[in-house]
Amino acid sequence: MATTEVKCKLCGMHYSKEEMSDEHYPARSVGNEDIVALDIVKMIDSFQSEEMRNDVLKRLSTGESTDNVLGDIFDTKLSKSIYPTGRTARTLCRKCNTFLGKYDAAYLKFFLLDGEPKKIKGFKESTKLQIIKSIFGKFLSVPEAKNEEFDFLNFLKDESETKYSGKWRLYFVKRDFSTDLLGLNDIGTGKITFDEGIVYELSDDKFIFNLMNFEKHSCFLMTNIFAILNRNYVLVKGVGNDGGYHAQILMMRLFQNMYG
Ligand SMILES: [Zn+2]
Repeated sequence: MATTEVKCKLCGMHYSKEEMSDEHYPARSVGNEDIVALDIVKMIDSFQSEEMRNDVLKRLSTGESTDNVLGDIFDTKLSKSIYPTGRTARTLCRKCNTFLGKYDAAYLKFFLLDGEPKKIKGFKESTKLQIIKSIFGKFLSVPEAKNEEFDFLNFLKDESETKYSGKWRLYFVKRDFSTDLLGLNDIGTGKITFDEGIVYELSDDKFIFNLMNFEKHSCFLMTNIFAILNRNYVLVKGVGNDGGYHAQILMMRLFQNMYG
């Protein structure tokens, strides 16, 4: 049986599908374990249903917290497990995936410390660069970016490279109540196109990342990933009232599910 040749997005070599890596995006350790999808049609129906409303009111009257009730409804009635072992892609060969794994180890340190500037400033510059490269690297596996020819491959391939001067910008925010619908930290990926260019999104349990080929709109407050190299970088938390790129991408995806 003939196997399909797949091109590795980092080294550019061709491999059979079986030789590719099945890499996690984001890494399994940062929340990519059992991915569930929110069923928005069902959600709207249920919140209009008398039965559900009575059920919720009854539980609230017994002193159960709103978070608890909503969380339970979400888990048992509104979500479906779409990637029970985490979401993976086959865009990298095993060698490149192992190589990028070193960067992911650095990113995990950043993740575990919640990106707190006071702690991150103590990291070595080389570790900070690995963190930056880890996140750029994850975008290679984003399905919406499948046909994108990224210009940061050499920046990733060369461990000692400290500068990237291509056209892509990478911004991020720390998740908070403003980023998560019903407290659900959705880690889906997405893409949205503006007159100025393209925005890709990738997120994990704690952070939301947008990779884009233009300077971000000044109304959306986000941290540039290269800012973590500075001792006093400022970590933006949440997406503010307008929801930023994240809200637009999330809504777009939910409505695609609804009509698609
Ligand atoms: Zn490769």
